[in-house]
Amino acid sequence: MKFVGAHVSAAGGVENAPVNAHAIGAKAFAFFTKNQRQWYAAAYNEETIERFKANVEELGFHPDHILPHDSYLINLGHPEQEGLDKSRRAFFDEMTRCEQLGLNRLNFHPGSHLNKIPIDDCLDRIAESINMALDRTNGVIAVIENTAGQGTNLGHTFEQIARIIHGVEDKSRVGVCLDTAHTLAAGYELRTREAFDATFDTFDKVVGIHYLKGIHMNDSKKELGTRVDRHASIGQGVMEMDLFSFIMNDPRFNDMPIILETPDESLWAQEIELLYSLVQSS
Ligand SMILES: [Zn+2]
Ligand SMILES: [Zn+2]
Repeated sequence: MKFVGAHVSAAGGVENAPVNAHAIGAKAFAFFTKNQRQWYAAAYNEETIERFKANVEELGFHPDHILPHDSYLINLGHPEQEGLDKSRRAFFDEMTRCEQLGLNRLNFHPGSHLNKIPIDDCLDRIAESINMALDRTNGVIAVIENTAGQGTNLGHTFEQIARIIHGVEDKSRVGVCLDTAHTLAAGYELRTREAFDATFDTFDKVVGIHYLKGIHMNDSKKELGTRVDRHASIGQGVMEMDLFSFIMNDPRFNDMPIILETPDESLWAQEIELLYSLVQSS
């Protein structure tokens, strides 16, 4: 069974995220655990935590289908100690928030070398940052999102993701989220049956399909291999509808959050309906 939703607003408090997801007919959702443009935020109070959990339960969501996203400011591979320490503190805070909300996974962008350290050093720093956060929290999987490889962002090749995972001590608490737009922009073709199968075979060989903990379902304004990250609404970019159909009919993507991060939120309800309409009855 597929669990499709969107990255919804948590304005006014995280307890509103499940309400906003329910309103668009979502069976899964993502949200920011705190304002994503600020380093610090007040800790959750008991009431927020209880309300979030109650809304999740009452509206029929399951933690396995909820994929919170961390702040864009965090760079777990930061080349400089001050930026690295700040990022590690903020990431630990986000992991703690997920734990408090009863969630089991946190999605994050791996990090950027900023042209100041070699790629492998940056990847090893990221792994060490994950180890530090896992040591001090319980039950939350650190879910590495693949990137388009824009600028100095790492995690755009499966080999880079594999190297990070290799450096993580507790392999049961590290995972991967593949973003369809990032995957294409990073140079992995997905739009024909052959290409889709080849890309996921490569992912399985290099990383391991069992690490997959979520999908970001986006169309892309940018072509294969451009390394530019620009999401489009479903059907309005360079993707083929076939790609979305491949995912919706493939049991490897069962029981994980499939999250829209498409730019026009007024279309999310329709996009969710469209994706479910692609499921072929067997
Ligand atoms: Zn992301
Ligand atoms: Zn994404």
